[in-house]
Amino acid sequence: MANKHILIVPGDGIGQEVTAVGKLVLDKIAEKFDHHFTYDTALIGHAAIEATGNPLPDESLEKMQQSDAVLFGAVGHPKYDNDPSAKVRPEQGLLKMRKELGLYANLRPIKLFDELLSASSIKPEILKGADILFFRELTGDIYFGEKGRTNNGDTAFDHAVYSRFEVERIGRKAFEAARTRRKKLCSVDKANVLETSRLWREEIQKLALEYPDVEVEHQFVDSTAMMLIKDPTRFDVVVTANLFGDILTDEASQIAGSMGMLASASIGDGTGVYEPIHGSAHDITGKGVANPLASILSVALLLDISFGMKTESELVISAVDKVLKQGFRTRDIADANTATANVLGTAAMGDAVLKFI
Ligand code: NAD
Repeated sequence: MANKHILIVPGDGIGQEVTAVGKLVLDKIAEKFDHHFTYDTALIGHAAIEATGNPLPDESLEKMQQSDAVLFGAVGHPKYDNDPSAKVRPEQGLLKMRKELGLYANLRPIKLFDELLSASSIKPEILKGADILFFRELTGDIYFGEKGRTNNGDTAFDHAVYSRFEVERIGRKAFEAARTRRKKLCSVDKANVLETSRLWREEIQKLALEYPDVEVEHQFVDSTAMMLIKDPTRFDVVVTANLFGDILTDEASQIAGSMGMLASASIGDGTGVYEPIHGSAHDITGKGVANPLASILSVALLLDISFGMKTESELVISAVDKVLKQGFRTRDIADANTATANVLGTAAMGDAVLKFI
């Protein structure tokens, strides 16, 4: 029995619809395992701008800092997508949240449920068994270094900067995770060319001495991009810098077939934030067809990582697996073989998962 306080931050668009289902899953887990979960909600994104003029009001940030975990939806609204010059924007709320909460590690598990083998654009025989956990560094690198223009604006630069402690803290999390999995860690860099990558490799090599039970390989980012498509099952845990991770995790998301299936965790030393990788999906907002499985799988990550509830987390994942095995699909993952009666809306898909929990 554990007491935990969870902040639900739905944000915009289908974020509202999928986090509502995620909360029902949390309720069900609390009931089944005799935990006591309390909840609050907070505004972010367009919803927060409309209510307060600020994409991340101080009150929301304080609630995040005071909670044990955050279940996040998505931010975004067509109004801003069509107006790049808008000064106040929903995604500013997201970036500020990551910075203020010190979320330096982004975890993205890429696991293909067997039933969805045909939903990916990669051949099933190559994909079968793929199960990768990415650790992308989230608060350093070329995104946060000095940037600017010289030469009357005709030359531009972005400085990539890493310090040892930044590599060490995410490296340690990746090694720890590898220990609980197949004990393989692939550290991705470009150490043949970049100084930041040489520092990265030195630090990972140093950490490897502390984890002799974990098999470590160092791979260049270009060959990793190729191997992810050619032979995804060779990877277990992958750790990499912000820019490389940004690109490789989007590439790897295609292994799982659909945006509606992928969850992520952003963690640091304080409150962790758990969210689907998809956005607010204006095209399907309010239609009740959004796939809630990424939000449900985000709940599984939350239970495991922030609360150390491994059994509860595995139960949620196996309930999703069973629902898929029964042939139930939301519209985005249905194919020609799916019976019409098995194509479920957001709420019905949530109910199906709850039944198996
Ligand atoms: P998106 O992820 O919202 O949608 C891309 C496509 O995938 C759409 O066709 C959508 O219908 C579909 N899709 C996404 N999630 C789905 C789900 N759960 N079930 C079924 N189908 C799903 O990306 P986009 O269209 O490029 O962006 C829409 C808005 O979301 C923009 O304002 C963008 O800035 C924002 N966005 C936010 C985040 C975030 O909050 N982390 C991430 C990406 C995009």
